[in-house]
Amino acid sequence: MSTFDTIVIGAGMSGVTSARMLTDAGQRVLVLEARDRVGGRMNTDRSAGFPVDLGASWIHGIDGSPLWDLAQALHVPTIEYTVGSFQVGGRPIENFDGEGRAMDADATAQWIADVDAADRLLVEEISASSAGDTYLDVTERALDRSGLSPERIDDIREFFRHRVEEQCGAWIGDLDAHGLDEDAIEGDEVIFPRGYDELPRRIGADLDIRLDTTATRVTRSTQGVVVHTEAEEFTADSVIVTVPLGVLKAGTIAFEPPLPDAVAGPIARLGMGVFNKVFLQFPERFWNEESYVLRALGEAGEHWHSWYDVSAVSGLPTLLTFAAGPFGRRMQELSDEEVVADVVRALRALYGDAVGEPRAHWITRWGLDPFSNGSYSHLALGSTHHDHDALAGPVDDVLHFAGEATWGDEPATVGAAFYSGHRAAERILGHPVDLGAFAAGIIEREQKAGR
Ligand SMILES: Cc1cc2nc3c(=O)[nH]c(=O)nc-3n(C[C@H](O)[C@H](O)[C@H](O)COP(=O)(O)OP(=O)(O)OC[C@H]3O[C@@H](n4cnc5c(N)ncnc54)[C@H](O)[C@@H]3O)c2cc1C
Repeated sequence: MSTFDTIVIGAGMSGVTSARMLTDAGQRVLVLEARDRVGGRMNTDRSAGFPVDLGASWIHGIDGSPLWDLAQALHVPTIEYTVGSFQVGGRPIENFDGEGRAMDADATAQWIADVDAADRLLVEEISASSAGDTYLDVTERALDRSGLSPERIDDIREFFRHRVEEQCGAWIGDLDAHGLDEDAIEGDEVIFPRGYDELPRRIGADLDIRLDTTATRVTRSTQGVVVHTEAEEFTADSVIVTVPLGVLKAGTIAFEPPLPDAVAGPIARLGMGVFNKVFLQFPERFWNEESYVLRALGEAGEHWHSWYDVSAVSGLPTLLTFAAGPFGRRMQELSDEEVVADVVRALRALYGDAVGEPRAHWITRWGLDPFSNGSYSHLALGSTHHDHDALAGPVDDVLHFAGEATWGDEPATVGAAFYSGHRAAERILGHPVDLGAFAAGIIEREQKAGR
C-alpha cells in the first residue's frame, strides 16, 4: 500500500498545477521541492519593498491563452508590455546605430522594414530547410537573398543572433532551423506589477509541499514508485517529475531502472539555454518616458544591446537588460561589480554622462543554479518538435514528466509549464480537468481561509 497516490517532484508552475488538480480530485499528494521556496523559475525578490522578477516576467501573447484566463480569474493585476519577444517595432523603441548614434524616425522605419523583409525570406528558407540545417544556415541564406548593403545586413545578422539568444538562451549556430517555429505572439504581452510568482504561490497554497527536500533517486516497478531524498524515502502509485531539463541532463536524479530511449533520447537531444537578467535602478531617468526599449544595433550592441524600461513596477527609474547564450554563460562568472560597470559603460556609449551611477542592481546566474542548470529548453540541432512532448512519458504508466521542456506547442514558457502540469494530472486521473473550475476552486479556498 503506497503512502501517497502521487508524488510531485518540484514546486514550480507545472508541479503546483498538477498537485493542486490531483488534490482537488481527492488524491493524497506530496510535493518535494529542493529549494526553500515555491515557484522555481518564477522567482520574485521583494526584499527591496517592491517586486523584482528574477525569473519569468511576461505572458507572451494573451489572445486565446488559458494562462491569461487564469490570471484574470484570480484577479491578478498586469501591465501591458508588448516587447517581451524581441520585436523590432510595434511599440516605441529608441534605436542606436552601429556607431552608437541615435536613429531618427526615418532611419528607424527603414530598419523595421529591413528586418520585416529579411524575416519574410527567413520563413521561406526555414520551410525549404533540410535536416541538419541550423538557424544560422537559414538566416545566412535569407540575408544572401535580401539584396541589402553589407552594413544593413550586418545589423540584421546581429539582431537575428540576439533574438535567438533571448528566446532560446542559445548560440544561433546550435539551434535547429525550426527552433523558433513556435515563437508566434497572439495579442499583447503583459507583466506582473505584484510579481509573477503570485500565480504558483496561490495555486500551491495549502498543498503538502516539503521544502528543502531534494529528490535523488526514483525507483519504479509495476507496483508503483519509490522516491528517495537525502534523508527519507516515500512511496506512491505515480510520480510526476517536473525538474528542469538542465537537472535531468545533469543526471543528479538517478532513475531505476534507467529511463527508456523514448524519454532518455529527448533529454539528451533537446538543449538547455542560459538567459540571465540584470536590473539596474538609476537616480534619474535618462531615456524617453514613452520608450519601451532602448536598443543598440550592430557593433554598438554586440554584447549589451537591449534595455527594457520596467520603472512602472517599482515607480523608480529601472532598466532590465539580458545576457543570454554564450555571453550569458560568460557573464555569470563575473562579479556583480564587473557586470554593473560593463552595462553602465555600454549605456554611456549611447547616452554619455546623463547615465548616473546605479543605486541598486539585481543579477541572475541561472546557469550556475543546481536546481535549474540553465534557464529554459530549446530545439538544439538534432532534436525535433516531437522530442518535447515525448519527454512527458509516461513510462510504465507510473512515471510522468511535466514542465516547460515537455510541452511542444510553446516550450520555454510559463504557459508550457501550466499546460504540461494540467496534462499530467489528466493522464493520472484518466479524465479531463476543467480549467475554469480549477481557478474557481482556488478563489473559493482563499475566501474560506480569509486570505
Ligand atoms: C530568467 C528567466 C526569464 C524567463 N522569462 C520568461 C517570461 O518572461 N515568460 C515566460 O513565459 N517564461 C519565462 N521563463 C521561463 C519560465 O520561467 C519557465 O518556463 C517556467 O517557470 C518553468 O516552470 P516549470 O514548472 O517547468 O519548472 P521550474 O519552475 O524550474 O520548477 C521545477 C522545480 O523543481 C525543483 N527541483 C529541481 N531539482 C529538484 C530535485 N532534485 N528535487 C526536488 N525539487 C527539485 C526546482 O527547485 C523548481 O522549483 C523565464 C525563465 C528564466 C530563467
